Formats: sequence, structure tokens, C-alpha cells
Amino acid sequence: MAQGTIIKVSGPLIVASGMADARMYDVVRVSNSHLVGEIIELRGDRASIQVYEETAGLGPGEPVYSTGAPLSVELGPGLIESIFDGIQRPLTAIRDIAGDRIKRGIDVPALDREKEWAFMPRVSVGDSVSGGDVLGVVQESVVVEHRIMVPHGVSGTVKFIHTGSAKVEDIVCTIAGDKGETHDINMIQRWPVRRGRPYREKLAPTSPMVTGQRVIDTFFPIASGGTAAVPGPFGSGKTVVQHQLAKWADTDIIVYVGCGERGNEMTDVLMEFPNLYDPRTGETLMKRTVLIANTSDMPVAAREASIYTGITIAEYYRDMGYKVAIMADSTSRWAEALREMSGRLEEMPGEEGYPAYLSSRIAEFYERAGVVKCTANKERYGSISAIGAVSPPGGDISEPVSQATLRIVKVFWRLSAPLAYARHFPAIDWLESYSLYLDSLSPWYTDNIAQDFNSLRLEAMSILQRESELDEIVRLVGIDALSWDDRLTMEVARSIREDYLHQNAFDETDTYTSLEKQYNMLRLILLYGQKGREALANGAQLSRVLSLPIRDDIARAKYLPEKELSIFEAYEQELNNQVAMLSEEGELNA
Ligand code: ADP
Repeated sequence: MAQGTIIKVSGPLIVASGMADARMYDVVRVSNSHLVGEIIELRGDRASIQVYEETAGLGPGEPVYSTGAPLSVELGPGLIESIFDGIQRPLTAIRDIAGDRIKRGIDVPALDREKEWAFMPRVSVGDSVSGGDVLGVVQESVVVEHRIMVPHGVSGTVKFIHTGSAKVEDIVCTIAGDKGETHDINMIQRWPVRRGRPYREKLAPTSPMVTGQRVIDTFFPIASGGTAAVPGPFGSGKTVVQHQLAKWADTDIIVYVGCGERGNEMTDVLMEFPNLYDPRTGETLMKRTVLIANTSDMPVAAREASIYTGITIAEYYRDMGYKVAIMADSTSRWAEALREMSGRLEEMPGEEGYPAYLSSRIAEFYERAGVVKCTANKERYGSISAIGAVSPPGGDISEPVSQATLRIVKVFWRLSAPLAYARHFPAIDWLESYSLYLDSLSPWYTDNIAQDFNSLRLEAMSILQRESELDEIVRLVGIDALSWDDRLTMEVARSIREDYLHQNAFDETDTYTSLEKQYNMLRLILLYGQKGREALANGAQLSRVLSLPIRDDIARAKYLPEKELSIFEAYEQELNNQVAMLSEEGELNA
């Protein structure tokens, strides 16, 4: 039904009159080309509408049709392996129909209507069910079992349950509701993107999302269900970090939201992701990934929506009981879209032209991460870990988007251009990065890895901090001014940096290190420092301590296969023997 009339067009923003019956955030179709738009401001009968498609050629007088529904996504089998745009239009399917550029007003459903899925029931007739309960499952990809859940708000008794082949719109279950009504359930749920999906309870995260990346897992861990930010100066290894996380993090599902700077940047991601292999299954990573892509030639408004589309899909898989990681790259591009829309609305600008609600919008996104007890009768837990890249202009994180992000996320992996330039990868600066999860995860490390894991981390970190102080002294007065003890500390710090923090993503073994191996490696390095200091105290020569043969083994430890970890015991013995010999020499010299 036609409702309003365009009275003004300003880029992606149009103003329409005659919209008194519409509601905030309703989706509208604009002009006879039916461009998708969303109401973002209502004043009297005037609506400001952000249009998710190119508005060139639109003009006053054209009609606006209201759909009466908020911007929503379709949730169901077929999400995995899909590439969507910011408002969940399936890019691959559209390309097949319409070629490379999306035609305006094109209407292709997000989920394939024709595809047959083998539905395997998990309830029987007569069972009583309510929102979130699993009715049945379909194998969505070789690695993902998709759980078809009772939609929120529905409860009652199962009257019919399907078995076998079904399309997403086919009825797979009929539920006789508690108030006598009947619910025919298919495999599609619709959910408004700007509203978080319900859960029973949010829990404090207590276990890490293990990534196999030593600098992250040991020093700056992110909790499973936690939030992290990573800034990405160009060439600092941001892409490699994200790929490593996607490949190795112990998560079931990945949702990757890309807001590209330039058109081709996103194409890179679209090309690269399907070529990444999942080391655990040998399948392509796409078999457990949903991609949301915005290139710069798509209207900014779609970019603004993309982050909500992404997190809603993430919540849906969380509700199935999965561990989900959502990566948003980059949230700065997203914030720029927000700024542009705000400018066109002529809102009062805040810092650097960003709207005053920038921080609250950023917070709303990250707050949808977390570990939850799902809504379902049977106990089930799921989590979303959210990792956002920020790309501040000039790498200066004092700007509003970085600052607002850092106020809300709990982990900061500071990628450093100088480290990348020195080819120290991952270029995560150990002095400026932090994780606020260290305290809450400590018990997990103690219980699952080793009693002294946390104290080893502390010791290693204090050696690295000491190194930066000593560096300062060396710069001023030269290395000879340092005591032997301090020079040994410098060497141990170097060993931590080169033999531990440095990790080659492209080496078959080094690319992933289990926590058990991380513990053994770090312990050996620190033990060398302690024993070395003892030897010095017993009169050993510094040069002899620095050239102990065990140091070669320490340097090579990262290339040891995971199944040969027992060798670390032998190394420790060897280290003790070598130091004992030095101490004997020292006593003889004395
Ligand atoms: P960005 O996305 O920040 O522009 P990339 O992630 O593409 O940077 O990294 C740039 C280059 O740095 C890569 O091509 C690779 O050669 C090197 N690099 C980055 N991280 C690693 C790593 N962990 N191990 C080895 N090389 C790395």
C-alpha cells in the first residue's frame, strides 16, 4: 500500500511526508523500483529514511510504501557458506541471476527456497516444547549441524513432526499452542536485527578462547564469549591475525563482517576466505562461516546495518548451543557510515563529526557478545566472542572510534607498525596490549594447564618490562654499564621475544601451539634465566651462561611437533646439567 511521498533526496537519505502511521525502524520500499529503506527518524508525518540502495535518479513526488515490519534477517539452513550484503541479500545468488553489480530493487530471498534439506526430528508427537527447544536438525554443511528451534514465544504440544527431505518453507512441525491455537513451523525464523535475541541468563566468561597463538593465549587472552579490539595500520599483519583466529580459535561458527575501505579490499576477503582451510576438518573454512560483505560501491546505509545483521546471525547459532566468533572489519568504516547518516539528518555533531550516540552504538554491538544459558528446556550453553578491527586514520588511537571501542572491549591487541617493519610477527606490542580477562581466567589456566601458568606469565611480562627500562639505559650509556645480571635479563627477554612471541603463521608446526606446549616453552625459557642467574652468583662467566648449548634447543622448541612434548623434561635435565657444570667451573675459578 502506498503511504508517503518523497519530498527530498539527499544521497542515501530521503525524506517522505504522509508517514504518520509508520513506526521508527520500519522497513519501507521507496519509489516504484522498490528500493529497500529503513525509517531512522520520525517527526510528525515526516519520515527520514536511510536507503540501502543507490538513490540516483529518485526525486520528489515518488511513492514510499511501508512494510510495517522492522529490518529483519532470515535465519535458517543455508546461512553457512553464504555471502550476504549488509541487509542480507545473498550476493552469490544475486550474481548468478543478475551479474556482478547488484541491480536496484532486486528481490532475492536470503535463504534458498528450492534447496532440499534432510530433516531429522528430535521430538515426538505428544512432547511438550517451548521457545528454543530443538525440534530437529539438518546437516547444513559437512561440519555444521543446524538445529531447528521452536521460535521464541511459541509453546505447546507437538502434533506433527516431519522426517526427511524438506525445503526451508515446508512445515516441519505443528505445535498445538497452550491457548488452543496452532503453530505451523517451517525452518525459517525472522528476527529484527536491532534487537538482541533472548537468552535465559548471561554468565561471566570463565574459559579462554584458545587460539594457538602464543602472544594471545599466554599474555593477552580473550575469553570465550569475550570482546577484543585490534587496530590495523596497513601492513601490520591484521589480516593474518584474523585468518589465524578464524582457522585456529576453538569456535564452531565464524561470522565475518567486512566493511571494506575500497571495493577491492572486500573482494580480497571474498577471494581469500574460501581458500582458507580448516585445519581440524581439512574442509574449506567456509563450511562453518557466514560472510557479510560491504564494498565501498555499496551505499553507506547498508554498511551501517551490516554489523547488526552479523551479530543477529551470530546470536542465532549461539542459541543452538554453539561457540561463535564474530569478526567485524573494520568498525571504523562502519562508524563512518553512522557519521555520514547523522550528518545528513543534520543532527548535532559530537567529536570529529561523529554523532553523540557513537559510543552507545558501539557498546550495543559488543554487549551482544557473551556466554549465555540458552532459552530451552534442556540445559544448553552458547557463546559469542566479538573481535572488532579499528582502522584509525594515521594509526592514532586517540580518535573517537578507537576510544569508544577501548572503553567497552576487554582485550586490546595493539598491532605495531615498527614491529611489523622489523618482521616481528604477530606484530602485537607486548607492552601496550592488554587483556582484562587475566584475573577471571586465572583459575582456568591453573586447573587445566598448570599450577604455575599465571606466575610464569607474570614473570615473563616483568622481564619484558624490565627490558624496555634497560634498553633506555643502554641507549644512554652503552651495554657495558649493565651488570651481568641485567645483561642476562636482556638475553632472557630477547629469548621471550624471538623464541616465544614471534610465531610464523606460515610454518606448518609453528602456526599453532597448544597451551600445554606454550607452558612448556615458556617454562624452559624462564628456567634458563633462573638457573643462569644462579650460575652467575656462583661465579660463572656471563659469556659462558649466554652460550650454553641448551639455548639452541630453546630456539628450536617452537618447531617441535605437538606429540613430542615429553622432550621438555629431557631439556630441563640437560639445562640443570649444563648449569651445574658452569657453577663448578665458577667455583674453581673463584
Ligand atoms: P594488513 O592486513 O595489516 O595489511 P597482512 O596481514 O596482510 O597486513 O600482513 C602483511 C604481511 O606480513 C603478510 O603478507 C606476511 O608476509 C607478513 N605477516 C603478517 N603476520 C605474519 C605472521 N604471523 N607470520 C608470518 N608472516 C606474517
